[in-house]
Amino acid sequence: MRKVIIVGGGPSGLTAALYAARATLQPLVIEGDGDKHAALGGQPVDLTPGGQLMTTTLVENFPGFPDGVNGPDLMDAMRRQAEKFGAEVVTDRATAVDLRTRPFRVSFGDRTEEAQAVILSTGASPRHLGLPGESELTGRGVSTCATCDGAFFRNQEIAVVGGGDSALEEASFLTRFGSKVYVIHRRNEFRASKVMVERTRKNPKIELVLDSVPVRLLGVERNKLAGVEVEHVKTKARRTLGVGGLFVAIGHVPNTALFQGQVELDPQGYVLWKTNAMTSVEGVFACGDCVDHRYRQAITASAMGCMSAIDVERWLEAQGS
Ligand code: NAP
Repeated sequence: MRKVIIVGGGPSGLTAALYAARATLQPLVIEGDGDKHAALGGQPVDLTPGGQLMTTTLVENFPGFPDGVNGPDLMDAMRRQAEKFGAEVVTDRATAVDLRTRPFRVSFGDRTEEAQAVILSTGASPRHLGLPGESELTGRGVSTCATCDGAFFRNQEIAVVGGGDSALEEASFLTRFGSKVYVIHRRNEFRASKVMVERTRKNPKIELVLDSVPVRLLGVERNKLAGVEVEHVKTKARRTLGVGGLFVAIGHVPNTALFQGQVELDPQGYVLWKTNAMTSVEGVFACGDCVDHRYRQAITASAMGCMSAIDVERWLEAQGS
């Protein structure tokens, strides 16, 4: 039996693995099998080992890298660092997790392993528009993270899609870089908080494109976003916005379908922390974007991974294991 199995190999899972490995817990990490369009528990999930950072290029806000670091390079370094101390990382998908009785059981590939403790670090998937060329242009003009990629669009026109707090927050942030920022929203009322809406309306660099949805991405054949065509949902009139960057901020879905009914989730499906980093099930811990819908940064996910590993270590010790 393992002491701890970590389900998910993004920044939170690999940081948890590093700490657990240094505490001689010999963690097993199931990092995903690379299927970008997997369905787990009826939910579409991107199972790229390394998580969402694998889709970014330069990460400029991870402390310790004054010249920035490539997302995939950072994740490779995190993985090697965890392995150096004895973490075992398997490139496979967890297909079932049984958290009802101890020892817990995690199935992946054709194996099922038992563990005294489990760390859930399966992350969240940004919702996509589903437009042709969207995945090819991701990282080439299309992004789901303004904090990560906004600075690449200095003095260009930028568009944000969505009407929630994330979209408006990103739009406001992007006005630091863009010559103009469009907010494309499918209704004429916002889900975002009043204060955010007021701030957005007052910002002279933001133009609201309401009752509208993106229908076509331009530049697919050149592999670089060249604009977006939007359609008014009522009049069906079309308009082209010559943007260099398109930020899709239409929400995230936590990758937690596998745990539904086993650990307590909030109404949006995020795992709830009960005692420190422990979930509603004793011995099951969670970290990263499957818990956190507020910060969603690599550094905060890593921090949560560290917290969950320290909690696992203390919990196992209290159990006498
Ligand atoms: P959200 O509140 O779920 O908003 C998603 C937005 O995307 C909605 O406006 C929705 O339109 C739109 N949308 C969804 N699917 C779409 C589609 N297929 N095509 C076009 N538009 C689509 O998500 P969020 O903004 O990421 O926020 C998530 C949570 O984090 C919220 O509770 C939010 O308050 C919180 N948050 C807080 C802050 C803050 O306090 N500073 C910052 C960011 C996020 P409809 O409105 O028409 O449904």
